[in-house]
Amino acid sequence: MLRQNAWKTYDNEKLEKMNAFCEAYKTFLSTCKTERECVTFAVEEIKKAGYVDLKDVIASGKALKPQDKVYVQQMGKALAMFHIGDAPLENGMNLLGAHIDSPRLDIKQDPLYEDSDLALLDTHYYGGVKKYQWVALPLALHGVVVKKDGTVVPVVIGEDESDPVLGISDLLIHLAQNQMEKPASKVVEGEDLNILVGSRPLEGEEKEPVKAYILNLLSEKYGITEEDFTSAELEAVPAGKARDYGLDRSMVMGYGHDDRVCAYPSYQAMFSLEHVQKTCVCLLVDKEEIGSVGATGMHSRFFENAVAEVLECMGQYSELKVRRALANSKMLSSDVSAAFDPNYPSVMEKKNSAYFGKGLTINKYTGSRGKSGSNDANAEYIAEIRKAFDDNGVAYQTAELGKVDQGGGGTIAYIMGNYGMDVIDSGVAVQNMHAPWEVASKIDIYEAYLGYCAFLKEIK
Ligand code: MN
Ligand code: MN
Repeated sequence: MLRQNAWKTYDNEKLEKMNAFCEAYKTFLSTCKTERECVTFAVEEIKKAGYVDLKDVIASGKALKPQDKVYVQQMGKALAMFHIGDAPLENGMNLLGAHIDSPRLDIKQDPLYEDSDLALLDTHYYGGVKKYQWVALPLALHGVVVKKDGTVVPVVIGEDESDPVLGISDLLIHLAQNQMEKPASKVVEGEDLNILVGSRPLEGEEKEPVKAYILNLLSEKYGITEEDFTSAELEAVPAGKARDYGLDRSMVMGYGHDDRVCAYPSYQAMFSLEHVQKTCVCLLVDKEEIGSVGATGMHSRFFENAVAEVLECMGQYSELKVRRALANSKMLSSDVSAAFDPNYPSVMEKKNSAYFGKGLTINKYTGSRGKSGSNDANAEYIAEIRKAFDDNGVAYQTAELGKVDQGGGGTIAYIMGNYGMDVIDSGVAVQNMHAPWEVASKIDIYEAYLGYCAFLKEIK
């Protein structure tokens, strides 16, 4: 099947729009390196676009009506935005969903120690990572420390040009004879991902003076103590901004494309709506990389609860209407796909691979070992999606995540499928997925945005 390279179809005007969109995306990607930062950034923007907190609507006792825009924030790590349509909510919603957590190294609850005059932080990696990729590169710390009195201290160290960066050492090649014999999964072990944070002793301190220096610094700069690590969520992530990639600047390299490269176009697409017939929703969720578990992951019922609350605010609540609203919905579950990589062609089946430049990718199914764990979208639904994309000139391609029996992966699609709604995986192709620095094509990012806009407006 011939799928054209979208670059060949763009005129100057469209190229300019694409570039403007990708510049804004780069700012988002450089600023938002944790799920909390993504929610904070998005909420600021959606408020300006007229979205109001559902909590405030409930507290005020005001009724919601068609064309109102509301949002729900779940613990600052997940977000649901509703643009209410003229049609009854029980007729279903058009849903865009993506995740905003990315693989990283989380700082342990009791992390700080001193060894041979060096101070280090213990970590526990989050999500699927090749551990050897996380050594010998500049790391930044992002997150929050919550003190016993409830004060939330935000932390971002290593992003400003004047900030220090942190990192994990690698073994010098000269002494790596034994290490180089090990399988890649053992070259760097999880428990050895320790971040070096200091080497200077505190004057007058006899016991662990280097650790004491760091604690002194944390107390002065942030007003936090060693005990406060207990109630902290600190994530070590690659330090630095998203950058243009390629001599022709056709791609973007950044940390956390998976899955912010779908999250950003998804919530931006909500701003393209004017008067909507069907209620449109964007869902940004946490914890996908570890199984969509917990109160902020897609398995949480926070979204279902939000639908119930919206119905209640419209004076239409019933248990049956909640179920109907969910079952009658249609969703694009957006997550990244593996981009065909000429360096590693053996893991791909060429006809059913995603390629840079060929637009938004749709995956009928994901899964592994015979589609296990996959949502497997209905053919009828795919036909509807094809029509919406074709009618709106959206460049899209279909793909599987690699060759049969090469591995695989899952998304949030099957979880929403549990409600009986139509769901299909879609998203942007990425090289280096889950590596500290991932790469995506600018034209695919923009086509994803256009595809999401078409989906929200066209799907009946
Ligand atoms: Mn993902
Ligand atoms: Mn992932």
